[in-house]
Amino acid sequence: MTTKRPPTALEKMGLNSPMALALHLPSRYEDETELFTIEEALGLGRFHSIQTQGVVIRNQVMFRPRRQLLVTIEDDSGSLQLRFLNFYPSQQKQMAVGSHVRVRGEVREGYQGAEMVHPTVRAVTPDSPLPASLTPVYPASAGISQTIIRKAVLQALRDASLKESLAEFLPPKLMAEILPTNDWPPLQDAIAYLHQPPADANTQSLLERTHPAWRRVQFEELLAQQISLKRAHAIRRERRAPSFEKSEQKTKAANKENLGIEDGLLKVLPFDLTGAQTRVWSEIGLDLSNTFPMNRLLQGDVGSGKTVIAALAAARAMDHGYQAAIMAPTEILAEQHYLKMKEWFEPLGVKIAWLSGSLKAKEKRLAQEIIESGDAQLIVGTHALIQDKVSFAKLGLAVIDEQHRFGVRQRLEIQQRVGSELFYCHQLMMSATPIPRTLAMTYYADLDVSVIDELPPGRKPIATKVVKAARRDEVINGLHDWLVKGLQAYWVCPLIEESEVLQLQTAVESFEQLTQALPNFKVGLVHGRLKSEEKAAVMAAFKANEIQLLVATTVIEVGVDVPNAALMVIEHAERFGYAQIHQLRGRVGRGSADSVCILMYAEPLSLAAKERLQTLRETSDGFVIAERDLSLRGPGELLGAKQSGDAMLRFVDLQRDAWLIELAQTAAERLLAEHSDLVERHLERWLGSRTEFLKA
Ligand code: ADP
Ligand code: MG
Repeated sequence: MTTKRPPTALEKMGLNSPMALALHLPSRYEDETELFTIEEALGLGRFHSIQTQGVVIRNQVMFRPRRQLLVTIEDDSGSLQLRFLNFYPSQQKQMAVGSHVRVRGEVREGYQGAEMVHPTVRAVTPDSPLPASLTPVYPASAGISQTIIRKAVLQALRDASLKESLAEFLPPKLMAEILPTNDWPPLQDAIAYLHQPPADANTQSLLERTHPAWRRVQFEELLAQQISLKRAHAIRRERRAPSFEKSEQKTKAANKENLGIEDGLLKVLPFDLTGAQTRVWSEIGLDLSNTFPMNRLLQGDVGSGKTVIAALAAARAMDHGYQAAIMAPTEILAEQHYLKMKEWFEPLGVKIAWLSGSLKAKEKRLAQEIIESGDAQLIVGTHALIQDKVSFAKLGLAVIDEQHRFGVRQRLEIQQRVGSELFYCHQLMMSATPIPRTLAMTYYADLDVSVIDELPPGRKPIATKVVKAARRDEVINGLHDWLVKGLQAYWVCPLIEESEVLQLQTAVESFEQLTQALPNFKVGLVHGRLKSEEKAAVMAAFKANEIQLLVATTVIEVGVDVPNAALMVIEHAERFGYAQIHQLRGRVGRGSADSVCILMYAEPLSLAAKERLQTLRETSDGFVIAERDLSLRGPGELLGAKQSGDAMLRFVDLQRDAWLIELAQTAAERLLAEHSDLVERHLERWLGSRTEFLKA
């Protein structure tokens, strides 16, 4: 009979098996393998930790200037004072006069000469041996001591089951052919080495995780990831999805020329597709004609014209009698799409349903009814589309805009909702944030990517300026001159994540100040608390130039298109992330006037914010900005995996170890082709329960 007991501190950290402990690798090491005389320590121990030992000749608690313990130790070469500002009675006892102690710490100049403050202390005998290996320091949650983790790890490494779990089963021949060098140790040795590196180990490469032992572990982890991605790829090709060939339209739109919806759309569009749009549309068209589900990312900078491609794909599905859904992460973004789709499709007789979280219960029910009955051919909405119990009559295509803003979990949910064992719909994801190559090769390996690398004609480069908030008056003067020329402008108020009310308040304050400062012009205000109709009215007035200056919260992040507004001021730009500013800035530069974006910041500026603003000033290349964003935030956030809390790669750093990815890719291909029997075992070892995330 097993009795329930509370989990131990180790178990709470997930360290609940010998394998988990073995893979809990040190974050750094302490060198306790070398011992110096006190005289040497006094010289060498400045600025870095050093180890020495001696006999205690004084042990005294002082009360001035505050309670503290002073201990002096001595050897043949000299003496050293130790100072403890916090101490336990047990420590005082451990360092009783006459006892031998080994201490480790930095030597500093104190009031009474050289001393060590809070060294680590170990009771020894004069001839206690030194450890033969470096002392590992493990990642640990608060309240759990290194000693406990070290003991548990050592015990785990001796566990008989580990021989089996860490057994070498990658075929040596294959490894020899793929690996660039033969000095990577076998896995089990690599892990043992990382837990207990010998005294003469190259600590630099251990710390930087470039040591052959680290390489071996990283390679194995990447290999598992590559295998599972390749499998996801193969599995997708075995699934069934409806094939939408261009030639065989099944449904005719209800328009007088009796065109298909797709042809009808091309006809009503007020512009021709750019070369890049034509290219990506043919790539997507080809995917849609396949009998397995499309899984494609359409990538294109802000304003590159992704929406029309989504509309074309939707039209193709609808021409075949299937429904299409377009989903966006925010209400405002979704609404912009809805308005655009109405403009393009309603003249063609297409029935569109709108579904968002803010609909009244009755409206929602009505929307759901026509989605379920198949009356609605096109469905536009927020993720309410997947959250609520919506069932589609015949969904053939799901478009997900700004896909990176949906978390991994939500993306999985989308797949589960729209698909079934037998039948899947095509998926098109869209993003203005380019995926860096390393991410494309790892997390997104089962995603086909199309890139719109050309902006519609007539766009102008945007000059970006970075200005201190203290120069606000100057900025407002400049704004005045700008408006006098007959141009329009945006004034974007800070994002205050903690409080929507506070955000609104600052927007109202800026609005009032600007209204006063610019009496000859009409200033408008738009924010998230306005009703849809109110928002729409303000936007329409701005578009018609009845409003010259639009003060806005980040609601204008998307979808606003006013070519005469070519100046944007962003207040507290230091509070915005890379992608947000890049998106916001994309609102200007759409007309014939030279465009300017002013990033106003308040001091003090953090180092990260400073670098961010500098980068944004220097470049408007979405790719460069995404790379910076990645190096700053790590892939988790870009992937939307942050909230899942699951770091999928524990030992690999995609930037540092980029070159390893290709090796792992080759190895994965060969393993799958030549040794498919080993694949399962490798996956289990490395990913365990986490494999599902890789499919999202
Ligand atoms: P994004 O890629 O950021 O979603 P949109 O699809 O919103 O960009 O397009 C931005 C603007 O460019 C819209 O006003 C759209 O109508 C316009 N547009 C798109 N394609 C073209 C084109 N080929 N020529 C001219 N304007 C275009
Ligand atoms: Mg868009």
